[in-house]
Amino acid sequence: MAQKRDYYEVLGVEKGADDATLKKAYRQLAKKYHPDMNPGDQEAEAKFKEATEAYGILSDPDKRRQYDQFGHAAFEGGAGGAGGGFGGFDFNGGDMGDIFGDIFGDLFGGGRSRRSSNGPMKGASLRAVIHITFEEAVFGCEKEIELTLKDNCTKCNGTGAKPGTSPETCPKCKGSGQVTFAQQTMFGMMQQVQTCPDCGGTGKIIKEKCPDCHGSGYLANRKKIQVSVPAGIDNGQSIRIREKGEPGKNGGPRGDLLVEVQVARHPIFQRQDMNIFSTAPITYAQAALGGDVRINTVDGDVVYTVKAGTQTDTKIRLKGKGVPSLKNKNVRGDQYVTLVIQTPVKLNEEAKEALRKFDEACGNRPATGAPEKKKKGFMDKVKEAFED
Ligand SMILES: [Zn+2]
Ligand SMILES: [Zn+2]
Repeated sequence: MAQKRDYYEVLGVEKGADDATLKKAYRQLAKKYHPDMNPGDQEAEAKFKEATEAYGILSDPDKRRQYDQFGHAAFEGGAGGAGGGFGGFDFNGGDMGDIFGDIFGDLFGGGRSRRSSNGPMKGASLRAVIHITFEEAVFGCEKEIELTLKDNCTKCNGTGAKPGTSPETCPKCKGSGQVTFAQQTMFGMMQQVQTCPDCGGTGKIIKEKCPDCHGSGYLANRKKIQVSVPAGIDNGQSIRIREKGEPGKNGGPRGDLLVEVQVARHPIFQRQDMNIFSTAPITYAQAALGGDVRINTVDGDVVYTVKAGTQTDTKIRLKGKGVPSLKNKNVRGDQYVTLVIQTPVKLNEEAKEALRKFDEACGNRPATGAPEKKKKGFMDKVKEAFED
């Protein structure tokens, strides 16, 4: 995917531009590139979408703040994204209605309501969930999911009307899909717009339904879809698969499929962003004498040389044994390993004897009998205190 341009650059405004400046800039671009003004011009359409997306974000104070702080990452659902979970930007998202109303109210006159119901519209997004292992998340994987996708009915070409007949313009809304009615409110008479109840907003009435799709215009098919899970994906993040959602309306593109990834817990490794955390047992002798220990990593075991005199809970870092960056899989986090000294619980006589000798050799209490010399214990100190 091409690198996304900076939203301010797209609109050609300064970073601190006020709302009026943003709106003016967007209005100019929208007029220039609007698909109605440039029929069939893909580049103009792309520019129009880009500008609309930029304005959609920057005109919303919350989204603008997130964008200023995190850049595009704020809406991508990637690490550090303020939104988290599902990112992305729905071109036909509900909150765009106001902007279009606002901007195009005068530009296209009464055409707005027609556009919203009869113009090309991108289909709705579908959502799915996949479950993967810890290692699959670290290294990426290919998964296949099966889901029911709607396709335009081939018998009626998606019109829903029986072949040989065609849908008729809804008489109630005259094809606009919306009806306007006046309502008395505390502010006076208000014009309200509502989806036409007769045609459900399609602007069309089907008298004779297509036998294959029963008038819906769609057929549901089970489809297998390949999902490329990128290395470094984290639990709860989503993968957007373009144009595998609901079909578009009136020639609009299909919606997207958003696949949420759920990563299973690992018995040894814990993850935080790009770093992996684990603990590794070492023996008392290894800790005291130093030596090589084997440590589990996601790349397999590595040999690590423990320094003589290592204390329990010593933390070591295995550079580059963490999780790859979603943006560049050659950049990897680190693994932090806590070395935990294991106190032996089952000792045979030989081992016990060796330990007693060891203790003796260290100048601690002798292996048998009562201590000859003892540091003053707590009770001794108490006694002294009373004797004084
Ligand atoms: Zn049909
Ligand atoms: Zn109608």
